[in-house]
Amino acid sequence: MSELVISGLRATVAGREILRGVDLTVRSGEVHAVMGPNGAGKSTLSAVVMGRSGYEVTAGSVTLDGEDVLAMPTWQRAVAGLHLVMQYPTEVPGVALHDVMVEALGSRGRDTGSMRDRLVAEAGRIGFEERFLDRALNVDLSGGEKKRNETLQLAMLEPRIAILDELDSGLDIDALRDCSRRVEEMSNVTERPLGVLAITHYNRLLTELKPDQVHILVRGRIVASGGPELATTLETDGYAAFVEGSDDGGDEADTAAEPGSALDDLFRI
Ligand code: ADP
Ligand code: MG
Repeated sequence: MSELVISGLRATVAGREILRGVDLTVRSGEVHAVMGPNGAGKSTLSAVVMGRSGYEVTAGSVTLDGEDVLAMPTWQRAVAGLHLVMQYPTEVPGVALHDVMVEALGSRGRDTGSMRDRLVAEAGRIGFEERFLDRALNVDLSGGEKKRNETLQLAMLEPRIAILDELDSGLDIDALRDCSRRVEEMSNVTERPLGVLAITHYNRLLTELKPDQVHILVRGRIVASGGPELATTLETDGYAAFVEGSDDGGDEADTAAEPGSALDDLFRI
């Protein structure tokens, strides 16, 4: 069993504090959804946990099975078992998926035999067309195909904990169902079930990918946590109640610097 523990995490980007004390624990087999308005810091949280450059951690800790994640370079975090499905998957011209998988599994000391057959089998499970397997990574793929491709890589790599940053963005209903269903399956297997941190705006991702807990992130803090019913409440009532409640009254300067930004964000969802 694995455990990702995020504790009191504060981080700045370009000199501005975006994460303002995040506490979150994700264990194998658990699905946690993080929801929140645009600009709340959701992608920043995923970037900081994976070690993307440009983000400075100013307080708190992130551990995976007790190991200090923040002390590791990004590749080592991946080898240790963290995986990020990016909101906007990167196109890598000239590099084939097959070769990426051979390198990635090889660096983890895992079996890289009969890769083609394994890729074909996995592609079949999530409706990723076999002909796309020979393309350069994500090149000339539609938004939905890219996310199927990302889900395929996730399934092949079998990390301990996966962070999905808006897996649902750019997906049609069929692709959304196939991808979220596959992730749900991974979280339910008996041997090494996947722990999931799913960042999303929409409850519809959560009909197939069933969260154990839903957390609401507003202005860099988790302001509410609850069961799946919390996502349903959001669908009808929006974030307004949580945004109002998020101000600790001590950071007028922040509000003044960006008048109405939180509310503007609400209308852009
Ligand atoms: P969310 O994913 O919740 O919509 P983000 O984490 O992407 O929000 O962004 C939170 C805030 O941090 C936004 O105001 C955004 O402009 C800012 N931000 C995020 N990444 C960067 C960056 N690399 N450079 C400058 N500002 C950034
Ligand atoms: Mg984002």
